[in-house]
Amino acid sequence: MSNLSSANDKPLFTPGPLTTSRTVKQAMLRDLGSRDGEFLRVVREIRAQLLQVAGLGDDYTAGLMQGSGTFSVEAVIGSTIPPQGKVLILANGAYGKRMVAMARALRIEHTVIEYPEHCSTSAQDAANALARDPALTHVAMVHSETTSGLVNDIAAVGAHVKTFGKKFIVDAMSSFGGIETDWRAVGADYIVSSANKCIEGVPGFGFILARRSALVETEGWARSLAMDLFAQIKGLEGDGQFRFTPPTHALLAFYQALDELTREGGVRARAARYRANYQTLVAGTRALGLREYLDPRLQGHIIVSFLYPDDPRFDFKTFYERLNERGYVIYPGKVGSANCFRIGCIGRLFPADVQNLVNAMRVTLDEMLT
Ligand SMILES: *Cc1c(COP(=O)(O)O)cnc(C)c1O
Repeated sequence: MSNLSSANDKPLFTPGPLTTSRTVKQAMLRDLGSRDGEFLRVVREIRAQLLQVAGLGDDYTAGLMQGSGTFSVEAVIGSTIPPQGKVLILANGAYGKRMVAMARALRIEHTVIEYPEHCSTSAQDAANALARDPALTHVAMVHSETTSGLVNDIAAVGAHVKTFGKKFIVDAMSSFGGIETDWRAVGADYIVSSANKCIEGVPGFGFILARRSALVETEGWARSLAMDLFAQIKGLEGDGQFRFTPPTHALLAFYQALDELTREGGVRARAARYRANYQTLVAGTRALGLREYLDPRLQGHIIVSFLYPDDPRFDFKTFYERLNERGYVIYPGKVGSANCFRIGCIGRLFPADVQNLVNAMRVTLDEMLT
């Protein structure tokens, strides 16, 4: 039994799944029917609260979609681009490239501007592409590229998208709720995130904040039955139900997680905790002689990529396993151009947890490199 106790679980310094609070997990100890009045109220309140977290009003609506975050991104790409539409994708990491893979799989016309993983996307490039190609109807990009930890300037791109009268899709998966963002200024038509990133719920569904005036045009455009965003939101706004079995337990956990976000002090306070985690991390790792992959000016406080130490005795698998034995879970790198590992600053973690990790890294590196 004790093995099942969350008190013994290792803290997850990863991009997800993430460490959640005990009370978030406890909120799942119920079996609610999908037509139960209490459950429908929870769903309604979650949708309203998501708009509040974003600082958006009635001109937006919140959709919830079963599956991991990728399913929600794919629901937007696959449902909101018209049959003759064309999307410009700005990609500087694996998650930008994943949107390209979606467009390809769904046979949606697309153009890609690709950047090295240590470089920001360029708003000027987006403006030039929009000026050059009038067939473009949509622009899609990632806010916090979890591949590297780089945070892109979505507001700068959004301004051009608006000037050209196009629609703007933002994968805000690892930033929503964890980076203070003026979503009004960004002007995105579709903002996508998921339950188990900075809101600190458990995995099981994603959410989409959609501008109503854009969404209403999209009826019948979906290239998938189950991942039809318009139909999904129509159901949630109509009888309040999911079209197919809802992840009831994950929704109950998320409802609790939203309450805990409010109690913490909202996005501002949560972003401050994550920033403190980040600062504790890099202060510690720099003292250990580790180097970050990104220029600090491009680096967000969500996740950090570290270059492998320049020492032939370093072996990531051994490093990972020894940290794991000491009770800390880190993550392999994802950038293609350099050997890195990653450490996440998000989830129910505090600077003291990060300091403990840094101490364990010091002992482990001492063992390995001397
Ligand atoms: C986590 C993440 C996703 C979604 O990943 P899933 O594994 O499907 O939940 C998408 N984009 C970004 C930027 C992410 O960080």
